[in-house]
Amino acid sequence: MDPSEYNFQRCKLCGDMTAEPTYNLIDSTIYTCQNCDFHFLNQLDDNSKNFDNTIQLSNQHRNYIKSRIDENSNLHLKRLKFVQSHITISNCKALDVGAGLGQFQRLLETRGAETKGIEPSPIRRDYALEKFGINLHSKLVDEEYWQAGFTQYFDLITMWDVIEHVNFPKETLESAIKLLKPGGMLFLDTPSREVLSYRLSQQFYRFIPGEMGLFLPSFYSTAPFGHKQIFTLTQLRGLFQKSGVEIVYKAKSYRNNPERKNKIILAGKKR
Ligand SMILES: [Zn+2]
Repeated sequence: MDPSEYNFQRCKLCGDMTAEPTYNLIDSTIYTCQNCDFHFLNQLDDNSKNFDNTIQLSNQHRNYIKSRIDENSNLHLKRLKFVQSHITISNCKALDVGAGLGQFQRLLETRGAETKGIEPSPIRRDYALEKFGINLHSKLVDEEYWQAGFTQYFDLITMWDVIEHVNFPKETLESAIKLLKPGGMLFLDTPSREVLSYRLSQQFYRFIPGEMGLFLPSFYSTAPFGHKQIFTLTQLRGLFQKSGVEIVYKAKSYRNNPERKNKIILAGKKR
């Protein structure tokens, strides 16, 4: 699908042609599907522009990444604990989609998994190689490289804070699931639309429509790789089920992690 030609009346979740512009933000509009109530931004990444592979990792990049790496490492450990409570990591074949700096992949490797990771940002890939010696892949999960060579290959696939960023979440998730072995497990987390601030914003907007829908602008972003859609649990559950993945665990937060409250956290097993 060519992002520049996408018709936003088409729901990105159910494909129905009944999506309507509902909430106007400053530089974009949130569409709502009249069939399945999916909310998505009228904005897609042009991957040919966003992924400039000629960009070199600079000291400025390094400093920025270093300033944020510690806050993430704690979260990755919580995610690891969550995964370990459902699957034995040692000797399993694992794929981390949206691997960032490769931190989570490294945690899996040190516990005996055979890992691969996908990261579209060349800066992050360079950093992962420099810092951890991890070679992340640039090819996205729906591309031929994975779909032809790694069908039903992985025991474990993780997608941390990914599904809200991609252009076409349904296709991305389905593509990932194709790479899972039967009985393999998929783990993901993503912001939830069912949090109070989002629901209040919707109510507020009914009375005072305008650019500042209270908190809505903080949920979405037109920046490259920004948040393009926010799911409800029901919508994600439906997507899992249609793709042959049974949800075995769901939660709203990781234990003892107040910053990650009210997320959707899911573990699913492929039939
Ligand atoms: Zn829909």
